[in-house]
Amino acid sequence: MLDGIEREVRYTSKMIGKNAFEKKVMAAMEKVPRDEFVPKSYLDAAFDNGPLPIGHGQTISQPYIVALMTDLLELEANDIVLEVGTGSGYQTAILSQLCKQVYTVEYVAALADMAKARLQKLGYENIQSMTGNGYDGWPEHAPYDGIIVTAAASHIPKPLIEQLKPGGRLVIPVGRPHLYQELTLVEKDKDGELVISEVLGVAFVPLQGERDE
Ligand code: SAH
Repeated sequence: MLDGIEREVRYTSKMIGKNAFEKKVMAAMEKVPRDEFVPKSYLDAAFDNGPLPIGHGQTISQPYIVALMTDLLELEANDIVLEVGTGSGYQTAILSQLCKQVYTVEYVAALADMAKARLQKLGYENIQSMTGNGYDGWPEHAPYDGIIVTAAASHIPKPLIEQLKPGGRLVIPVGRPHLYQELTLVEKDKDGELVISEVLGVAFVPLQGERDE
């Protein structure tokens, strides 16, 4: 799986502006057992560099995309991170290796419950999860050093920008649901000004329960 990721990083290096992801990101990708997060019927493909269905019309993202989004967050050991779209919990587990605490929100209760039980069983301790609409973020634990949205939004949700710390980074696919989105990086500088850049074309399942801009 790591080989596949490294190959795709080189293939997309012009767009993402680097030839390799941070070592600690790749170490987390190596350590977290992806086979624990995919349905039994897809075990054979657990370590392929591709997305897989996880039920309820949702998918576990392609490992390269998980690594790319994680790398873009530039996490430090003391960071507090918000994830919107827990899904299988795989991305959550990767994040938990690289920061102090992960708060994760999932819209579909059955997926949230499954991911919570799985993450507990696997012994990840710095993760707190809830069922809810991640469009609204999770204000109780804000502000966050990093925010990651793993579903396609039509626009950048205002609550997430508000809950991002000055100096923090938000990674989110923005575009038309079911079609094509731009993986977007929002950096909030020390004065609260936003710098927004588009990194790569991606295809994610839609963010549900979006509110008006
Ligand atoms: N990070 C996940 C990817 C899951 S796919 C993984 O590694 O497996 C995207 C997930 O976002 C789905 O589980 C979907 O139910 C969830 N989702 C969609 N809209 C949401 C919302 N408004 N709030 C929280 N989760 C949402």
